[in-house]
Parts: sequence; C-alpha cells; structure tokens
Amino acid sequence: MMRELTVDLGERSYPIYIGEGLLQDASSFFTKHNISKKSPLLIVTDTNIAPKYLEALQKELVQGGFKAEAAVVPSGESTKSLAMLEKLVGQALEAGLDRKSTIVALGGGVVGDLAGFLAASYMRGIKFIQIPTTILAHDSSVGGKVAVNHSLAKNIIGAFHQPEFVLYDLNTLQSLPAREIKAGLSEVVKHGLIWDESFVSWCEVNSEKLLALDAEALGYALYVGCGVKAAVVSQDERENGLRAILNLGHTIGHALEAVAGYNELLHGEAISIGMVGSAKLGMRYGATEEVYIRTKNVLAKLGLPVRLPEHFDVEAIMSAMMHDKKFLEGTMTFIVPTAIGKVEIESNVSVDWVREIVEQLKQEDEL
Ligand code: NAD
Repeated sequence: MMRELTVDLGERSYPIYIGEGLLQDASSFFTKHNISKKSPLLIVTDTNIAPKYLEALQKELVQGGFKAEAAVVPSGESTKSLAMLEKLVGQALEAGLDRKSTIVALGGGVVGDLAGFLAASYMRGIKFIQIPTTILAHDSSVGGKVAVNHSLAKNIIGAFHQPEFVLYDLNTLQSLPAREIKAGLSEVVKHGLIWDESFVSWCEVNSEKLLALDAEALGYALYVGCGVKAAVVSQDERENGLRAILNLGHTIGHALEAVAGYNELLHGEAISIGMVGSAKLGMRYGATEEVYIRTKNVLAKLGLPVRLPEHFDVEAIMSAMMHDKKFLEGTMTFIVPTAIGKVEIESNVSVDWVREIVEQLKQEDEL
C-alpha cells in the first residue's frame, strides 16, 4: 500500500509518497514528475547507505532512461560543510550537470540538507528530489530547509529550497541501527505533541510495533508526522511565526548537543530530554502535571532518554542556550506545551526558571 500527501505551497506544492518497495519503481516517479532524461542527474548519498541502496537505485534509473550519476560523501554531521559542498559542485560539473539537471538526496537528514543546499545553489538553483532513508528524515526531507554547518554554528549557511517530491521507501528503514530508530521516533512523537493528541495516544499504544519497524505502523506514523510538518510549513513556509512550534524541545536539546560536542547524544535523544524540560516548563504556564507525565511516558516507551545524564554541567548548558539565536535581551523563547497536542510560543521565559528545570532534569526517573 502506498500513502500519499501534499505539501501545499501554491505553485511549489509537492507530494510525499510513502510505501514499501518504492525505490524499485523510482523511474516511474521521476518520469511522472518530468525529470529530464537528457541532462544528467546526480544522486548524493553517504558511505553507509551507498553499499545498501545506491547500485539498485542507479540501475533502476538508468534502465528508465535517466543519466544517473552518483557522489558518495562520508557519513556523519561533519559532512555538512562548505568544503564538502565545494567538492560536490566539482563532481556535478565533471558529471556535466546543467540547469535542467536534478540533485537526488538518498539518505538521512545529513545528506538531505547537504544535497538540498547543493541543489539550491548550483547554477542558482536546480531541481531536487528527497529520498529519505532514516525515520528522522520524515522531518528533515519535508519543508525545504537546506543547509551546511559552519565551525561556529549549525545550519548557519542555508536556503529554503523545496523538493519536486519526496519518495519514502519504508524498506530502506529496515537496515537502520536500533539507536537511530529510537532517535527518529523522537521527532515523530514531537509532531503529535505539538499538533495532535490522538496521534500521541496512538504512539502510546503502538510503541512496540514502531520499535519493531512494523511496516503498517511505521507507514502510518510517518504519514501523520509528515502531515503535521506539511500542515505547519504550508501555513508558514519561512518561519515568520507558526513554524517555530516545530522547535519543541530544541532550545534545551540544541544546548545539550553543543555541550556534548555532537557526539554523545543523537539529535533525537537530545530533543527527547528537551521535550521533557519543555513539558515541565509548561506547568509554570498552567499546563496540568498530566501533560508532563504523558510526554515523559510516551518518550520513555519508545526507548528514548528522559533524564539528563548526571555529568552534564548545568552552567555549560545555560551558557550554550544563551548563545542560541532564541536568546534575546535576557530572556529566552520556548515552545511550551499547554496540553497534549497543543503548544504556545513563549518569548519571555525567565532564565532562572530554565536553570531550575535543567537541574531537575537530572532527577527524572527513567521509566
Ligand atoms: P544522518 O543522515 O546522519 O543519518 C544517521 C546515520 O544513519 C548515519 O550514520 C547514516 O549514514 C545512517 N543511515 C542513514 N540511512 C540508513 C539506512 N537506511 N540504513 C543504515 N544506516 C543508515 O542523520 P539523521 O538523523 O537522518 O539527520 C540528522 C540531520 O538532519 C542533522 O544534520 C539535522 O540538522 C538535520 N535536520 C534537518 C531538518 C530540516 O528541516 N532540514 C530537520 C531536522 C533535522
């Protein structure tokens, strides 16, 4: 069964296809979306994904009449760099890509962000297709934010560049390491926590199926998660307001990633702890304790961390938060849950409250 939904952005609208075995049929999707068969296309992927899925995809596209070239980058966050972008531009030029060419991102958020920024900047912008291969990439492949990192800041050199379509083959997720599965589910739950109480209930009931990568459960969860992201992005493509709610858990989460040196905690793990912190903050803005308890329970059921490891230095975390762009004139902006499935943007949050909450995060029970 294939699920389909649309990111509604007027003339830049595009579909997301979710199903099993879609890569085997990639050329029919490429043909349907008028991808050029005369100009070469470049598949960008990483060293973990290439041995598993690149050859089959390339073969399928070549058989379908496409001039499919490939570039393989090292896996990991450090690949999202200007140096790697420059290297890829060289490979694109050598492969003869022109203005009618397409960049295809085959991978997780790292490949999607890097290849997307290549597509946004090569010859001032060419077509782009997202083929996500991680659970987390249900979030990163939708919405058009593409970027590389600078040594001083993450995602600081980037653009908005929407793909032609997103082709999500659930079969590729079967090879994900267990830790990456859980980390990706953190962003799935986030979409429920900001938008849809009934989806949070569904995640509570179906946590084991999700962890076991049951195709039906996973397909449904990614469909709902992508649907929330699409709904938010359709209303606020360039983050002038509403889109900020997608940052639930990110103020604390990004600080934890920075303090841990982007090594110890995966993005989804840091966001999980950050969402527990936001739910605690929510109680100071009138949310019931039940909101905090359910937030924590659903994340713990999915095997995600809900407690801040003891060795993290609270002042280092506070200092990292104050370097974040969400820190302004002595106060912080937080996405604060007011109920399950409902959040508000609070732009005047007291630094002392946040410090107390970060300290309390070390005392959370791991359920
Ligand atoms: P990732 O791309 O690094 O993938 C995680 C790991 O899994 C990597 O080692 C990768 O090689 C491996 N992998 C990927 N697919 C696999 C598969 N099918 N089988 C086996 N291994 C596989 O990380 P991610 O978690 O997908 O994405 C994180 C990135 O996404 C960050 O750079 C973050 O900034 C970005 N992001 C972007 C947005 C956005 O809106 N653009 C949103 C959220 C996150």
